[in-house]
Amino acid sequence: MNQVAPASPSKKKILIAEHSGFCYGVKMAVDKAFDLATTSEKPVYVLGELIHNPQVIDKLKEQNVKTVKSIDEIPAGSACLIRTHGVDPEHIDSAEEKNIDVSDATCPDVRRVQERALELARDNYTVVVVGKEEHPEIIGIMGHSKRIPGSKVVAVNSPDELEAALEGLPKSRIGIVTQTTQLEDTFFQVVAKVARFAREMKVYNTICPATFKRQTAAEKLAHDVDLMVVIGGKNSSNTTHLAEVCRDAGTEAVHVETVEEIMNHPLLAQAEVIGVTAGASTPDWLVQEVIQYLESLN
Ligand code: SF4
Repeated sequence: MNQVAPASPSKKKILIAEHSGFCYGVKMAVDKAFDLATTSEKPVYVLGELIHNPQVIDKLKEQNVKTVKSIDEIPAGSACLIRTHGVDPEHIDSAEEKNIDVSDATCPDVRRVQERALELARDNYTVVVVGKEEHPEIIGIMGHSKRIPGSKVVAVNSPDELEAALEGLPKSRIGIVTQTTQLEDTFFQVVAKVARFAREMKVYNTICPATFKRQTAAEKLAHDVDLMVVIGGKNSSNTTHLAEVCRDAGTEAVHVETVEEIMNHPLLAQAEVIGVTAGASTPDWLVQEVIQYLESLN
């Protein structure tokens, strides 16, 4: 059930979607990072952005937790935190070779996908990962499949990409996993298309329950409001997907990172009932700032 925000003095009605904001995987990683920042005697680095939210990354920077793009940038003997999206296991090997203390904040749901992808490659399936090839989570998942010599693994972000991605690869035995934050419809479309040519398929629906619940609640709320405000990093695919889900439900959605971006937005004027949701990596303080602003409108 969607909740009405506490007594709004404005004539606009603000409704907040269930399951919006930090999921348990992100909360765990953020807590771990701030804990490490205060307890570690070694300088702390994160390989890639811990989560896809620039405001949280800035706060970590204030605590001297540095975000780097490669192990080469981390001095030997430092501490390194692996982000929620996970990494290619080769990076962990390189870190250990440099005597870097590795703390793993990979979300357990992402780790499950990595294990499935490894298992499919080991069982000699051609592995299809549903997601954007350049997304860190997909790079990590594919990296696990590639641990198996001779493995064949591709990423596709829509059924239309299958043909080109699988060109020259064996297509009779296909194993499929998906990015944890993928849209269900996209995943099902890829599975349906593979079923037309593969003689054997093994499919794991690895969309995480938190994502499914968040998207379902946002879609439900979108039907009851004039406008959806979706809060979260512009580089966050789960937040971007949330906005898509709302638009697919027929409601205009504005994707903002901070309260400043929604201030005086032209779409607010006509909207009497406004829905709010937030991506998995959006901290509560950012959500509250937006809600307070919306409540102040009259
Ligand atoms: S969205 Fe799902 S997979 Fe991603 S960190 Fe949260 S719980 Fe884990």
